[in-house]
Amino acid sequence: MAALRLAPVQLSTPADQPDGLLGPAAIRDLAQQLELRPTKSLGQNFLHDANTIRRIVRTAELRPDDVVLEVGPGLGSLTLGLLPAAAAVTAVEIDPRLAALLPRTVAARVPALADRLTVVEADALRIGELPGPPPTALVANLPYNVAVPVLLTLLEQLPTLRRALILVQAEVAERLAAPPGSPAYGVPSVKAAWYGEVRRAGSVGRRVFWPEPNVDSGLVALDRRPPPPGDRAATFAVVDAAFATRRKGLRAALGGWAGSPAAAEARLRAAGIDPSTRGERLSVTDFARLAAIPAPAAPAEPA
Ligand code: SAM
Repeated sequence: MAALRLAPVQLSTPADQPDGLLGPAAIRDLAQQLELRPTKSLGQNFLHDANTIRRIVRTAELRPDDVVLEVGPGLGSLTLGLLPAAAAVTAVEIDPRLAALLPRTVAARVPALADRLTVVEADALRIGELPGPPPTALVANLPYNVAVPVLLTLLEQLPTLRRALILVQAEVAERLAAPPGSPAYGVPSVKAAWYGEVRRAGSVGRRVFWPEPNVDSGLVALDRRPPPPGDRAATFAVVDAAFATRRKGLRAALGGWAGSPAAAEARLRAAGIDPSTRGERLSVTDFARLAAIPAPAAPAEPA
């Protein structure tokens, strides 16, 4: 019987995963090429588990014509999973070494898809105009320390985003998806709800990252829908004021915002909201309604 001849396993080459995804050996190899020491300040925890990548891409429910914005592609773990599932991927990476390596990694592992990728070296909190077609979906394993501002900034600046699927710290996932009245409900929950329907979309353990973070992670999905009627900045100003002193009733908490507790009470009543209620009970629509109530006219000066 002829001996079975197996090709040698080269863990750090494109062949280590049939679909070109990065496993632990490939991540180690790429990090070594860059002499990379992942930094906490940039939230550099890289995914090295192909099954987690496949799950994230499946959960994103991308359409073949989607243009994906990926923030923080890092060594390319998620980028490689996204490229076959979308028409194009624009990857915004702040670390110049990682931004420079990514096109080479993609060209080596999935050459047929390399022209779908555009890499932009930039801070996602300060992107100007992005090259190429406008993004329709945000899919990202976000740097944990700036996850909420990145999400809210991109939703504000890129109205073409119709959905988002982000991987964040479990606690942040809980806060983003919390409904009114629940303990985790707060500023991030209300502001995210301004843009769309938010829900948790699964948990991710810490062992699939290199280096391992000391917290668990969670996926959050947001489906864009029209915002409530009203002005976003004005609504967000009331939200910030209402949660700044979370334990107070709204009459007291909104005294500074309205000019005085009495003025806050008048505006709350005009919006049909009980002034003794706490902010944590109001939905984004309630906040938008309250923000739209004009300030009461100042009493006339005595002649
Ligand atoms: N997507 C990769 C993965 O899943 O393995 C890396 C994710 S890692 C949690 C976060 C990435 O975001 C890092 O590559 C980091 O350099 C990058 N990053 C951090 N802050 C950023 C910012 N403000 N704008 C763009 N990228 C940022």
